[in-house]
Amino acid sequence: MTTLVASDLDRTLIYSAAALGLTAPDAEAPRLLCVEVYESRPLSYLTETAAGLLAELARETLFVPTTTRTREQYRRIRLPVPTPGYAICANGGHLLVDGVADEEWNRSVRSRLDSECAPLAEVSAHLRTTADPAWLLKERVAEELFAYLVVDRAELPASWLKSTAAWADERGWTVSLQGRKVYAVPRPLTKSAAMREVARRAGADTALAAGDSLLDADLLLAADHAWRPGHGELAEEGWTAPGLTVLPERGVAAGEEILRRLLSAARGGRED
Ligand SMILES: [Mg+2]
Repeated sequence: MTTLVASDLDRTLIYSAAALGLTAPDAEAPRLLCVEVYESRPLSYLTETAAGLLAELARETLFVPTTTRTREQYRRIRLPVPTPGYAICANGGHLLVDGVADEEWNRSVRSRLDSECAPLAEVSAHLRTTADPAWLLKERVAEELFAYLVVDRAELPASWLKSTAAWADERGWTVSLQGRKVYAVPRPLTKSAAMREVARRAGADTALAAGDSLLDADLLLAADHAWRPGHGELAEEGWTAPGLTVLPERGVAAGEEILRRLLSAARGGRED
């Protein structure tokens, strides 16, 4: 019996200071473990309790970190577990096996994108030329697979987002707004495709998943059971699906509860 647990990281298991959503009085706040430092400053946290649950989960299941982060961004994160046998980066574009990128997987993903979608250069050029410096803060290409903009969300016109999404859709790309980032991702570049590949290789019979954002929807749908927190883009849309449990918790407390539920389900306990 192998249970695969594919979980998103940012705002699902780990949280920046701004995303912690602490509500208890300061003297009762949970102790936090910093798991990511960026430019010499602490960036991402989980609760000490969540860290303990995650360590148990990684011992008892095939825990697969599943993120849209690039490999470089992923490798900054130091989860309190041994190097996972598999990790999914770049929204499914890279599969790390014992921490090393599987080039064959990347090649197969790229050949599919080449045949099914408009090229990245065309999409990133469109973003660059239509974005307004009034709200555009940064413009990035990730792993030569997809593009994202960091924006001033308050100034971003909904009309730009809508017309850009329609333009991209005709070219086989999806545009979505997540926090301060506008992502343009080729439609076949998914976390779920990579998760299915891991399940096949590992001979997993059950897949559990967790995630908070629009780029996690396919992952949650592909799992036997899935959980999402009470915050995030999926929560804002009231998104739900068969086999999905919506948790009321928000912020870093949701991360802890997700781990509790995953562990309980993996142990064959209550799965909701
Ligand atoms: Mg997330």
